[in-house]
Parts: sequence; C-alpha cells; structure tokens
Amino acid sequence: MSKQQGRHFLNIPGPSPVPDRVLRAMDMPVIDHRSAEFAELGKQVFEGCQKIFKTKGPVIVFPSSGTGAWEAAIVNTLSPGDKVLMVETGHFATLWQQMAKRWGLDVEFLPGDWRHGASPTEIEEKLRGDKSHAIKAVMVVHNETSTGVTSRVGEIRAALDRVDHPALLLVDTISSLGSVDFKHDEWKVDVTVSCSQKGFMLPPGLGFNAVSDKARAASKTNKMPRSYWDWEEMLKPNANGFFPYTPATNLLYGLKEAISMMLEEGLDNVFARHKRLAAATRAAVTHWGLEVLCQEPEEYSPVLTAVLMPPGHNADEFRKVTLEKYNISLGSGLSKVAGKVFRIGHLGECNELTLLGALSGVEMGMTAAGVPHRAGGVDAAMKSLEDADKSNAPTHLKMVKP
Ligand SMILES: *Cc1c(COP(=O)(O)O)cnc(C)c1O
Repeated sequence: MSKQQGRHFLNIPGPSPVPDRVLRAMDMPVIDHRSAEFAELGKQVFEGCQKIFKTKGPVIVFPSSGTGAWEAAIVNTLSPGDKVLMVETGHFATLWQQMAKRWGLDVEFLPGDWRHGASPTEIEEKLRGDKSHAIKAVMVVHNETSTGVTSRVGEIRAALDRVDHPALLLVDTISSLGSVDFKHDEWKVDVTVSCSQKGFMLPPGLGFNAVSDKARAASKTNKMPRSYWDWEEMLKPNANGFFPYTPATNLLYGLKEAISMMLEEGLDNVFARHKRLAAATRAAVTHWGLEVLCQEPEEYSPVLTAVLMPPGHNADEFRKVTLEKYNISLGSGLSKVAGKVFRIGHLGECNELTLLGALSGVEMGMTAAGVPHRAGGVDAAMKSLEDADKSNAPTHLKMVKP
C-alpha cells in the first residue's frame, strides 16, 4: 500500500463507511449483558429496528453476517423437501438459492439476465399454475447488490394476493434497508432479512430477521433442525431486552445511534437522498459513454450503480489503478460479471460532495488506466444534483433543524 493522505473513499456497496457519530457511540466499555442497563439498550434497539423495518412485529438481531440471517430465515420457516420459488437476479440471489438447496429445499430458480429485477408477472404466472399450493415460499432479493437492480417487492406482494397464494414471502433487504423504502407490514413480508454493514452504516456483525405472525406460526411446525438460529430461543429473552447468549454489545450501541441518525434525517429524506445520488451517478456514467448494467429504469438501484466496462478493458485492472492512485475502493464484478463491471456504492453516509469526490476518482482513474470515455461526467453529475436541488427545495428546508 502506498502512503496516502486523507480519508480512504470506501465506495463499495457494503460495507459502507461508518459515520463518526456511530464510531463514537460504539467507543464504550462493554457492559454486563444481564444488567438492567443492558436491558434498556436492548429495548431501545428492538423498538428502533421496528421503525426502520416498518413493522409492529419482532425484529431479531443475531450476531452474524447477512448470510447467517439468510439461513435463519430458511431454517425457522421451511422443511426439507419444501418447494420454493426464487429468481436469479444476480450473484446474491444465486448464493441464497445454493443455500436453500443445501438445506434440502426443492428450489425452482427462475432464470434471469442479471440486468432486470424479479418479475412480478412471471412470479404471478408460476403461482397461478401451482394449484396444489406446493410452493411454500417465494424468496427474492430486494436490492441485488451485484447488479444494481432493485426488485419491486410491493408488486410481488400484489401478485401473490391476486392469485390468493398462501406461500410465505421471504425478502433479502441486506443492501436496501435504510436506503430504499421497504414496508415489512404493509407488503405482508413474512421474513425480512438484513444486516448491519450496508444501509445501517455499521461495521459488519449484525444480522436481522423481521418476522410476521404467519412466519412465526410456520416456525412452530416446520421441520428444519436448528439451535443457534432458533427464533423462539431469541424471542423469549428479547421481550425483556435481553439475549440468550452474549450479544454484540458495542455494535448495538452503534445500531442505536445509526437508527437515531436515520430518524432525525427522516426516512423519506434518507430514501430521497439515495435516489438523488444514484441519478447523479447515472448522469456521470451516461456522459462518460459507458453503460449502466440495470436495463429497467423503474429498477435502478438507489444504493449502487454497476457500470459495464468498454470491450477490451478489464474492470479489476481499472479498479486497481483507481485504488493505487486515488485511494478509492470500487466494487468488483461478481461471478458471471467478474472483470466486466465495476460498482459504485452510494449508500449510507454519502452526500453530494462525497459522491462527487468518488466520481472524480472514477473519471481520473479512467484517464489513468486508459479507459476510453468522454470527459465531463462529474460536471454532468453536478448538473443533476443542482437540478434535483431546485426541484426539491421543500424537502431540503425540512431537513434544517429548528
Ligand atoms: C452483502 C449481501 C449479502 C451477504 O451478506 P454478508 O454480510 O456478506 O453475509 C447477501 N445479500 C445481499 C443482497 C448483499 O448485498
């Protein structure tokens, strides 16, 4: 590593940069997790999570990565041999599908081109054809972090309702929660899976399951073996603010602070900010003459933008140059799109100027790496932000505290 001054730009789509306020909140002595003081923290965190997931039901917090929370969703609701419907939106949907298979589920994996979200129409057709209700769950990734495509979960819910299908709806919101609007209760999602290091702006280490009554009822009779991930083991002590085992105490301090930050800004403002930054990023990409991987404007991700490299140029070599010269980390292309795309994360603690800094790094990096592009993408991004600012004046005024 060369010696570089100033802050590293962590523009991968998770882990995302941790705000100073969250870092300071975690810089605390570890307390007794059986104490009254801890119970207070536990209760505040569980209540706060309900606001972010938009649910009145329980949100379970595991000391785990997002992958652990995926597993918890499966083992608490389904039984070996159960049929589930999943959609190949990209790398993460593929990994979750592999996990489902390892747990003995009979997965129908609708193929995808990695440039579109899960199609509500296609899901509706599959469910309509399933007269015997063999499909026990529909499992989708809300924001596919490998492609920068956001699936329309509200419409998928509507599709289930139209055919009156009783399947559970399990949704991975690992990279969307806290950045893209998501309504666990209103969309009747049964298990919402998430984790700490993306929209929540925390270090890695917490996995979440928001659980509907229907999912909890399924957990009483399903047949998957589990111990560490068992919801009931968690929910009993959680009711009083406690955990059945040692929790990630200091991450919980951070979680409490991150939730406060999101609620102070206002969730709608948080979502609008992400959309604004994403639109500016696409303005830059388009100006450079490069192509955004997502092909459906309705599904552009507010969290990250995946960009196709011009033919003959390798994304990883380009990323290496930008890291060495400008101290910025960009996301790599994963599995099917390795070397072909790079990803610009614009989530969590990101604002107009940090985004413009990152885009400057990308543009200068392209020059340095000899990647053909039209100069001036950063100007196009500035123009996009200025235009958004004009049309968004009332939202901005609301953000100023009295
Ligand atoms: C990051 C990510 C995961 C994996 O989470 P880990 O914390 O790395 O286990 C799963 N799904 C999506 C959509 C992600 O972005």
